[in-house]
Amino acid sequence: MVLFSQNSTTPSTLNKNKESLIENKVDALLAKMTLKEKIGQLVLYNGSWDVTGPPSDVGNKEKYEKLKNGEVGAMLNVTSVAGTRELQSKVVENSRLKIPLLFGYDVIHGFKTIFPIPLAESASWDLEAIKKSSSVAAKEATAAGINWAFGPMVDISRDARWGRIMEGAGEDPFFGAKVAVARINGFQGNDLSGKETLAACAKHFAAYGFAEGGRDYNTVNIGEYELHNTVLPPFKAAAEAGVASMMSAFNEIDGIPATGHKGLQRDILKDKWGWNGFIVSDWASIAEMIYHGYVKDRVDASQKAIVAGNDMDMEGRAYEKGLEQLVKDGKVDEKLIDDAAKRILRVKFQLGLFDDPYKYCDENREKNEIYTKENLEASRDVAKKSIVLLKNNNSILPLKKNVKSIAVIGALADDKDTPIGSWRAMATENSAVSLLEGIKSAVGKDVKISHAKGVAVGVGQRSFVRELKVNREDLAGIPEAVQAAKGAEVVILALGEEAFQSGEGRSQASIELTMPQQKLFEAVAKVNKNIVVVLMNGRPLVLTSIIEKSSAILETWHLGSESGNAIADVLFGDYNPSGKLPVSFPRSVGQVPLYYNAKNTGRPSNADGMVFWSHYTDEKNDALFSFGHGLSYTSFEYKNMAISKQSFSSGDKITVSVEVKNTGKVSGKEVVQFYIRDLIGSITRPVKELKGFEMIELEPGKSKTVSFEINEEVIQFYTVNKKWEAEPGEFKIFVGGSSKTALEKDFSFK
Ligand code: BGC
Repeated sequence: MVLFSQNSTTPSTLNKNKESLIENKVDALLAKMTLKEKIGQLVLYNGSWDVTGPPSDVGNKEKYEKLKNGEVGAMLNVTSVAGTRELQSKVVENSRLKIPLLFGYDVIHGFKTIFPIPLAESASWDLEAIKKSSSVAAKEATAAGINWAFGPMVDISRDARWGRIMEGAGEDPFFGAKVAVARINGFQGNDLSGKETLAACAKHFAAYGFAEGGRDYNTVNIGEYELHNTVLPPFKAAAEAGVASMMSAFNEIDGIPATGHKGLQRDILKDKWGWNGFIVSDWASIAEMIYHGYVKDRVDASQKAIVAGNDMDMEGRAYEKGLEQLVKDGKVDEKLIDDAAKRILRVKFQLGLFDDPYKYCDENREKNEIYTKENLEASRDVAKKSIVLLKNNNSILPLKKNVKSIAVIGALADDKDTPIGSWRAMATENSAVSLLEGIKSAVGKDVKISHAKGVAVGVGQRSFVRELKVNREDLAGIPEAVQAAKGAEVVILALGEEAFQSGEGRSQASIELTMPQQKLFEAVAKVNKNIVVVLMNGRPLVLTSIIEKSSAILETWHLGSESGNAIADVLFGDYNPSGKLPVSFPRSVGQVPLYYNAKNTGRPSNADGMVFWSHYTDEKNDALFSFGHGLSYTSFEYKNMAISKQSFSSGDKITVSVEVKNTGKVSGKEVVQFYIRDLIGSITRPVKELKGFEMIELEPGKSKTVSFEINEEVIQFYTVNKKWEAEPGEFKIFVGGSSKTALEKDFSFK
């Protein structure tokens, strides 16, 4: 049975008539607007006073006045119907042209029902599940008055030190593009006119995930070809899927801050790709160009940003200060302001806000459609699909439900907060089902379950949202944990990271398990050989300290509201794990950045007679667990790979097929992956590149033939001619269940 193929999500498109009707309305409105009103549309204010208190708490008189005068186009962080209704009414009842506001919010992995962090969801490789998660998030957010989500984050990252790696789809551009489109379709629906869908925002344009040293906001130095071949594909896919907006990035790229980068924003995104959505700056990133040393003040910053193509200023207080005078002084062409305002108005028309500015202000929906049983069930479903079985010696997993005794060890085991993860929107603290709770409700009363915390987990000062007053070096709880482990048939040991160890501003120089956790593991391993490690983390971790002595390792990331239940589903075999890693797990932090689709050097490690190989003298080159890796409770055999012909030319295609057989005892899902290698290129090419995948489900003993098509598009890349094209030459094609593929063939393009 084919569960889905990579093409099963279709791009959202507005129908043509509707589009031209909207264009006419936008033009007519723009013609009536003063310069000040147009600039007003480009202003995005924070309204977070409203997150915790009723609208009457609003103390910011200045913002209120500006709303009434039509000098604000959008608000962020206003997260209730009461709040959005109040602010919308200020504009609609008082301003001259009554142009409704956009209400933006970071809806990253759920609103109040929390889904797995995006990196985790990506590990499902299940585009329908990912789309579903975004659509549930959109449903809840719109029920609270929000019409614009600051997601998806489509930044490719190959650096586990970067805290925001948790927010994306991992290291691969092809895969990242597929996930981006699934999320956008989930948020936006078929077009923007629905009540339960909202405008999406692909971010951060561009190369934010390539920060030097993995330190957030840091300088990016990336070559033009790498930028086009690795960073831009998910953004291009987002543009083609009709994403309503994109957000610029905080970083500079080779000396030019992304927010002031004309080459990227105006030339590529708007002119070359012909995308007609709007670009919002990141938080104050227009003004931050002053600190970059790129502009001298907010006026100068406004000039650079608007010329570069940045349409909306998020809390930078630059456009409102600079643009009017710049136009009057002839330093900025008013046409640029017109274009920016048009792009924003277009989205407002597409959302239907002019027909009903209170479209998303529905108290009934707010009361009944958020955090429902149905949404929690959807979260559990995606959560179990996001789990990756990294290791399973002697099939210790799945556990039998009549196991006599389980010692559940680790502070994360009864942590009801960590699984909610970073970027938790409106989640209630401590609202997740803990691992311990999940296990208890999965097994019968006769199973003896003991629990000991052992040691604390995170590094306190990194958790700037919660003050954790514990001694992180405290090993005093280890003896109790050892005692619990001693008599138990099996130990489930929860290790990893707390929620706020990853996310924005949470880069880490070290990605090993903390010393106390390593000590806890060692002590437990001395008394019990049956250790199932349940990892909870927002980034790839270095697992060398637990790799030998653990029997199984289950990567559960930060799985959201239903975490414990979803993990128990997998631990006890109610769900056969099907996740695959969307990022490589390094052996050592010194290997980072590490990714499967790397280039060869002139001195590959197997070159005959070479003494100075491209390697570390103290570590292997490859990952501990590579991209695409993930085990199942059954096994799959790949055989009979066939290729329809040896070579093809423009307009033609080759079909490659492979037979996959379930050789184990239970039914299971497998993500069949297909990679190519372009042997010689006008620029050097990666040793492997993912070009397709398909998830299949097979009963024991059953086989299925899976086919992929190779056409010109599949082998295209951004060449030395500075365009996407296919170059004639020799290729390899690989098929298997991970990037360490099983089978290969050759073909050529003439
Ligand atoms: C983040 C964005 C986010 C914005 C608004 C910034 O700090 O980089 O991703 O959308 O804040 O909260």
